[in-house]
Amino acid sequence: KVRVRFAPSPTGGLHLGGVRTALFNYLFAKKHNGTFILRVEDTDQTRFVEGAEEYIVSCLKWCGMSPDESPELGGPFEPYRQSERKATYKQYADQLIADGYAYYAFDTPEELDAKRKEIPNFTYGLATRGQMRNSLTLTEGEVATLLAENTPHVVRIKMPADELVSFTDLIRGHVSFDTNLVDDKVLLKADGMPTYHLAVVADDKAMEISHIFRGEEWLPSAPIHILLWRYLGWEDVMPQWVHLPLILKPDGNGKLSKRDGDRLGFPVYAQNWTDPKTGDLTKGFKELGFMPEAFVNLLAMLGWNDGTDQELFSMADLIDKFSVERISKAGAKFDFEKAKWYNHEWIKQSDAIQLLPEVKNAFVAQGIAIKDDVYLEQVIDLIKDRCNLLTDFIPQSAYFFIAPQEYDLPAVKPKWNAEKAAFFTAYTSLISEGLSALELEEKFKELAATHNFKPGELMLPFRVMLVGGKFGPGVFDISVALGTTETIVRINNALT
Ligand code: GLU
Repeated sequence: KVRVRFAPSPTGGLHLGGVRTALFNYLFAKKHNGTFILRVEDTDQTRFVEGAEEYIVSCLKWCGMSPDESPELGGPFEPYRQSERKATYKQYADQLIADGYAYYAFDTPEELDAKRKEIPNFTYGLATRGQMRNSLTLTEGEVATLLAENTPHVVRIKMPADELVSFTDLIRGHVSFDTNLVDDKVLLKADGMPTYHLAVVADDKAMEISHIFRGEEWLPSAPIHILLWRYLGWEDVMPQWVHLPLILKPDGNGKLSKRDGDRLGFPVYAQNWTDPKTGDLTKGFKELGFMPEAFVNLLAMLGWNDGTDQELFSMADLIDKFSVERISKAGAKFDFEKAKWYNHEWIKQSDAIQLLPEVKNAFVAQGIAIKDDVYLEQVIDLIKDRCNLLTDFIPQSAYFFIAPQEYDLPAVKPKWNAEKAAFFTAYTSLISEGLSALELEEKFKELAATHNFKPGELMLPFRVMLVGGKFGPGVFDISVALGTTETIVRINNALT
């Protein structure tokens, strides 16, 4: 039975790497008729950020990845927030101590700080054997006394010496770690709260997780987790490990970080994120005008393909085609231009009626009221091939709703003269409602001939009269959409 979890810590906005982790979990669950669980890992109260959980939930919803079990929905293994599961973790720390796999460590913060200053990149454990781990030399009686005196302490895992912890990662294959190089991570903090390492193992076991899909940055933690599964006697039900490739900067050097977005000019968050501490707003894909379908599509391609050249996949396609075997080991470069290409393709292949609600919202947000949905639908149909982002609809089609206030005069040099004005005046009396774009074009050309113009000399001025600038779809298509009355009004406005 496939049971997977997306286990974010509510420490800020959801970075695109985080959403991709959620997506691969989701696809795998749906592909195998399994269960997709959202578990909130909020044991680190110092990094807790107000509003982050709500943000995560709304991002998943926007992407169309609704969990089957979550803090909000509950489920058979509730609660799904680690801060509400506190009581369950201490027993495991006690068990590990009793079995000799973990120990009380009484080092004071001052002692630890001194070590950190003394030894660059100080890690606690075997790598620095003889320097720390003092508590391991205490007798049972001494430990008992210190505990009885309420001496502040943490519980640490005791990394075994000279062992290789080996396991199979479904993407990376055989992986092994030398335990001499892994530090004695804290499992239970001085305040009795578990750390991530203890809580993640305890909950993956409790929630009967079958596969752990997570970012490659967690690979160094895997030996700790595997030893915990072993030491707690659960190795026979240990989940399968799947560490997803990193998402890299466009130039391919280094991991994409949350800070890169601003610097490189693209969003890294799924939705707008306002940092509650600083009040700073970071733009999200949603607000920038990405369709959720396109966002999901482009995320899926960051480290996965179906083995063909196909690049456009709906969620249903992805669920159908997804396989762990086709996830790459190599980091995936994130290219914002390519991201826009996906969105462009999705806009193009969407029906106008599907795009209408978002485009309408974008207009309304700009203070442009949309009174007639049928008209907007017609406009969307004319414009959509020219838009990369949903927000592009505004500059690309505002003239359908607001007559041009200014004209791109340099574009129509020489400015329309008396002869051209006479042509356009004649044209206004020639057209009537109900003519197709093709019929309008014919009339335009015939009239141009009688006025001794090449149609090419008049097309651009006509476009600028209707649009204000030299852009947009076919000018006669624009005229049909505007209607005869409005076309005539705009010609007359431009002529006076
Ligand atoms: N809470 C961890 C995170 O923030 C989860 C890592 C894991 O999936 O084990 O990403």
